[in-house]
Amino acid sequence: MDDPDFPILGTEPVAVEFANTRYGIGDDRVEFLGTARWIELWFTRVSAHHGLPPPGGAMGSETARVRALRDAVHQVLSATVDGQVPEPGAVDTVNAAAAAAPTHLRLDWTAGTPSAHRLDTTGGSAAVLGRIATCCIELVTRPHSSVLRRCGSPDCSLLFVGNHPRRRYCHPSCAHRDRQARYYRRHLTGATP
Ligand SMILES: [Zn+2]
Repeated sequence: MDDPDFPILGTEPVAVEFANTRYGIGDDRVEFLGTARWIELWFTRVSAHHGLPPPGGAMGSETARVRALRDAVHQVLSATVDGQVPEPGAVDTVNAAAAAAPTHLRLDWTAGTPSAHRLDTTGGSAAVLGRIATCCIELVTRPHSSVLRRCGSPDCSLLFVGNHPRRRYCHPSCAHRDRQARYYRRHLTGATP
């Protein structure tokens, strides 16, 4: 099987990128975490960018746990977008993953100014999934300076954080595709009585 072209936006918090691996709706759904190899590949692509603990081959042996948390994070973020309350089971799954990987702050004050670093108290897949779960909780509970949205293109289901009030699409390519589609629809409507 070829390596997939993952829907990684590169601009979003890790919980949003994680949710977006459940791509599409209904029959058009693509499971981007469908195999152990794809799971390993996805984490390899995103880990450094998001400062996750190095997965070190631990994720591919946890396919069921990885997908269960992904589905729960997707459910919680989608409910936020739709202004609904997520299923309690999804909230429980996110909380369990966050609780399995507590972190603590470490004060460093060797030079002139103090700085804090967040340290994991566990390693492996629990630490990686815990970071994502914590990111999800922080994202949906922080004040609405930024708003979680779903891409405005009808054939795209990606979630993103709308830091700009006018941003309606996950990526400029979706905006372009949607403009083209609307242009053709108008053209067709004009030509057909
Ligand atoms: Zn899109």
